[in-house]
Amino acid sequence: MNWQQVEPLLYKGQDVAIMVHERPDGDALGSALGLAIVLHTLGMSPRVLRVSPIDETFTFLPGQSFVEVVPRGELELPKNGAVMVLDCGDQERCEYFLGNKRPLVNADHHVTNPGFGIINWVDPGAAATAELLSRLFYEDGITIPPEAATCFYLALLTDTGWFHYPNVTWKTMAAASHLIRQGADLQLIRSRFGENHPVKELRMMKEVMNRFRFILNDQVILCSLPCEVMTKQDILTSETDRVFDVLKGTQGVEAAVLLKEVEPNLIKISMRTKQVLNASEIAGLLGGGGHVRAAGATFAGSLEAAETRIIEILSSRLATPESGAAGTQAP
Ligand code: 5GP
Ligand code: MN
Repeated sequence: MNWQQVEPLLYKGQDVAIMVHERPDGDALGSALGLAIVLHTLGMSPRVLRVSPIDETFTFLPGQSFVEVVPRGELELPKNGAVMVLDCGDQERCEYFLGNKRPLVNADHHVTNPGFGIINWVDPGAAATAELLSRLFYEDGITIPPEAATCFYLALLTDTGWFHYPNVTWKTMAAASHLIRQGADLQLIRSRFGENHPVKELRMMKEVMNRFRFILNDQVILCSLPCEVMTKQDILTSETDRVFDVLKGTQGVEAAVLLKEVEPNLIKISMRTKQVLNASEIAGLLGGGGHVRAAGATFAGSLEAAETRIIEILSSRLATPESGAAGTQAP
């Protein structure tokens, strides 16, 4: 896994289309913007393609000038252009449909990634896609400009819960250390991100706190948010990391599950687990995927049907932990 693999396939001024997964998070956007800045300094013409404008939460990040909003059906890639797909556990998660075109680079850290690129920089041991990219550039002596370091650092922070989740390794901290040395602007991140959460996030937390319930011998916290609540409170797109930290951080709780009815009969399932349950495997049973400790799926049906199904799966996994347990496997 190194930069030399792609270098001969790129040339000065080349159009490089960088794509991420739907509803991109801090790692997807931080990795994409950071990569665009690095590619630009190397002489390429990178574009971070998005089907809709990037969430306001992330507009403070450097590299916004590389963002181009292109609706899904209107994507036209130049014949000699290169495509790089970041942070997508599988090709279907990519915001754009690539058909049988293999992206030049598939950079990711999901265990479920099948390696759909021509070059696959996939390391499930990396806490974030940005960790993998930072390491790769560092090891190959490619300078990460301060603006890119800020983007990558933000990506590390969000995918590790401020370096708190079990996916953190010494390599994560080595990458973070390198990024700080390269000039990552931690003060900017603190003021514009860490201590600048949207008000609607607090409204979402309030709804969750009012609605959650303990199930399965108090080992699981389940919370269902009906469509009308999501819409009325304008919390459809709210970040859930902090509320998950609170739920999961509770004594005796092994898993926290949020069921968000994003539209009638369409449920976005989000799950976080602590020590035993393999969230990725459970989400896989529902047609989704993700990481060992954080995974999700989309369920077609009512909130009640989604609740019944998830409780059924969780209860079978908790009854026979060995069938779904991740043991000491790294996240
Ligand atoms: P979240 O709960 O924050 O939406 O997602 C947590 C993780 O689960 C994400 O990093 C992503 O890898 C995975 N994930 C969430 N939703 C889906 C889904 O619908 N399909 C797949 N394959 N993975 C998902
Ligand atoms: Mn990620």
